[in-house]
Amino acid sequence: KKKIAIMTSGGDSPGMNGVVRACVRMAIHLGCDAFCVYEGYEGLVRGGDYIRKMEWHDVRGWLSEGGTLIGTARCMDFYERPGRVKAAKNMVLNGIDALIICGGDGSLTGADRFRAEWPSLLKELVDTKELTQEEIAPYAYLNIVGLVGSIDNDLSGTDATIGCYSALARICEMVDYIEATASSHSRAFVIEVMGRHCGWLALMAGVATGADFIFIPEKPREDNWRDEMCAVIQRHRKLGKRKTIVIVAEGAHDRYGNHISPEMIHKLLADKDGLALDTRITTLGHVQRGGTAVAYDRMLSTLQGVEAVRAVIEATPETETCVIAITENKIVRKPLMEAVQATKSVAKAIEAHDFDLAMSLRDTEFSD
Ligand code: ATP
Repeated sequence: KKKIAIMTSGGDSPGMNGVVRACVRMAIHLGCDAFCVYEGYEGLVRGGDYIRKMEWHDVRGWLSEGGTLIGTARCMDFYERPGRVKAAKNMVLNGIDALIICGGDGSLTGADRFRAEWPSLLKELVDTKELTQEEIAPYAYLNIVGLVGSIDNDLSGTDATIGCYSALARICEMVDYIEATASSHSRAFVIEVMGRHCGWLALMAGVATGADFIFIPEKPREDNWRDEMCAVIQRHRKLGKRKTIVIVAEGAHDRYGNHISPEMIHKLLADKDGLALDTRITTLGHVQRGGTAVAYDRMLSTLQGVEAVRAVIEATPETETCVIAITENKIVRKPLMEAVQATKSVAKAIEAHDFDLAMSLRDTEFSD
């Protein structure tokens, strides 16, 4: 009987509970034992009560819950080999032969490393007499499958990460609220959204709310960005627009790598000798990450969780570690490290569509 463990790692994202629910139930449905590792890699390193067997009813009602009910953590110990040795020991002691991890690129990189090192970790445990040859014998290789849980949508090779559409929906809802007061008072709002390295949320929110101007890390601004932004906003104002919305990703910067902060933008918009707009800054912060998952994320987490369990059951020692993706509306398996590596070099948000055109459809752009 296969024993499959599921854990969530890195930053939480809406839909992670859907993944856990789907994996636990699919594992049980296929005659396996399902386990949850609480608190991400921290739980794997600590073992004991952090690793719990799950029954069908244990995940009842989880699909609509936000965050991750089995906890997540950033685990320093797992970066070091002694931490991974402990984690390997806890896996063997619990009889776990497969691990499904839902997290960001860091968590998946850690998973890949763990699998690559697995034989040497077990050898070390035998050499130090912590485990016997008989105890490790059934665990010749480590079966790992990744799922991408992240609000940033920052992994290459998948159309959407689990949680990104929930965060986007929340941002759009918040911008709608802010717009009401912006219009009423004829104000400008600078709205900071999450995204240190990936501007998908800021870009999509800009398109989806018809924002006046956006700043994203993938499009470092030229020297004249101040003039450019002010000219666009001035034009919109002259055409009678009573509200101004500027969306800025946390990691926005100019072409020299200098951070473009909401305060810098605020100063420009409010400048008495310039636009002189009554300007406020709103940092959306963690409301973007919390709350229940939208329908898309519930669907994605369930379909991908099912596929992850299938992948684990079909895996052989020769199978490359895979990550479950969605491309062109199909749930597919992809080589995990290829997807992680590509993420570092591809500005996914920019390559997919004609965003310049989409942004130029802002309501007043073509009416002058
Ligand atoms: P997010 O997208 O929310 O930042 P993430 O999964 O990328 O999620 P990280 O903090 O990078 O978040 O990674 C989560 C955990 O994964 C780390 O705390 C660490 O325990 C483990 N991990 C990350 N990278 C490695 C690595 N190179 N080797 C071993 N473990 C790693």
